[in-house]
Amino acid sequence: MSDLQIESRLAKRAQGRQPSPIRAIFPLLSIPGMISFGGGYPNPRTFPFAKMSLAFHGGEQIELMDNALNRALQYGPSGSDPVLLPQLILWHQSKDDITLARDSIVILNGSQEGLFIAAFLFLEAGDSVVVSEPTYPGALSAFTAFTDKFVSIPLDEHGMNTALLEAELRKLRENGQALPKMIYTIPSGHNPGGVALSPERRVHLLELAREYDMLVLEDDPYQLVRLDDEPPPKTLQSMDEEGRVIRLDSFSKIFAPGLRVGYASGSPEIIKHFVLFKQCSNLHTSSLTQNVLAAYLDEATPEGFQAQIMEKCRLYRANRDAMVAAAREYLPAEVRFNIPGEGLFIWFELPETCDAAAMVEKYSRDMKVLMVPGSAFSAQGGCRSCMRASFSMVGEEEIQEGMKRFGEMISRA
Ligand code: PMP
Repeated sequence: MSDLQIESRLAKRAQGRQPSPIRAIFPLLSIPGMISFGGGYPNPRTFPFAKMSLAFHGGEQIELMDNALNRALQYGPSGSDPVLLPQLILWHQSKDDITLARDSIVILNGSQEGLFIAAFLFLEAGDSVVVSEPTYPGALSAFTAFTDKFVSIPLDEHGMNTALLEAELRKLRENGQALPKMIYTIPSGHNPGGVALSPERRVHLLELAREYDMLVLEDDPYQLVRLDDEPPPKTLQSMDEEGRVIRLDSFSKIFAPGLRVGYASGSPEIIKHFVLFKQCSNLHTSSLTQNVLAAYLDEATPEGFQAQIMEKCRLYRANRDAMVAAAREYLPAEVRFNIPGEGLFIWFELPETCDAAAMVEKYSRDMKVLMVPGSAFSAQGGCRSCMRASFSMVGEEEIQEGMKRFGEMISRA
């Protein structure tokens, strides 16, 4: 994919790591006829389960038994379960039109683990990261484990404002200051902003990454949580010719978050370091959940799965519409918000005199309506007059009533 130098970008803690010698012989185990005295695995005959049956809403029935069940309960490779891996390659190809090599993909405990690993691998104290303002606080907490320097770039209805990013980068360069190590972006259904990065800005962001030599962390868990009929725009990864993009996909919002399955993909040079991290942190993502997903993908096919996701998004679409209508009816005209085309969130910008955290503190308990104050999403202590509302877990009636109460709360404040 690229000639981009990765080793020289690694934080000191991630340099010079060697694969676990035991993990390195793992692939040899699957050679037919191999008599292995190698792995320290428990014997499957000691496992407690005889069979696991799964029934899906779509009518599919899956039974895990015998070898398939043993594999799902046994230790597995750090990169990916061998049965899930080809399924994921097909899945990625079907949704993003990219064929990933087997060594370009690593299964994670959700995309959150990918945020932490990327930060562990690349961020030294004092390095900065480009983030949007507002941004996902889970990313901020992963990054702040290693650095507290952020270059925050405002969001508008087309996503992160890349013209402002360019101006900021130019200024840093002109002043001889260090450039950010990477750009963190949530290109669809932004959490909390509810906006998508426009195709033009995707191109611009990649141009800037190249010009200022930064990695790009593309965190895209809402890509397929589509609320309109538009197809998803091209991913940053699919436009990247240099191997700068580390893409995080997640099954949390489109399958089930408690399974904790997501994956990182990118150049083999980068993914190799993700796998080395997993070897020392948790060996691998649960074999059981990987096998549940593999069984499902096998049964549903990538196209069938995408059709099911679209069908399920109708619920979110109806809720989004209800929240937008109720917001128009009950909120003061000065409150600004964007209508999200993907994701689960609407970001409300209240009049600047409002202190959202104080409003929640003072009124939420009695008025029984709850949202997350904007300051939770700022790397700079900003967004104090904003609120994030999620429309995923409520019914249309609750949305009506909740927005009415929110309107009253704003009037009182
Ligand atoms: N990134 C973003 C933008 C998110 O909103 C979330 C979940 N709220 C995550 C990452 C983490 O998701 P998971 O680990 O469940 O894949």
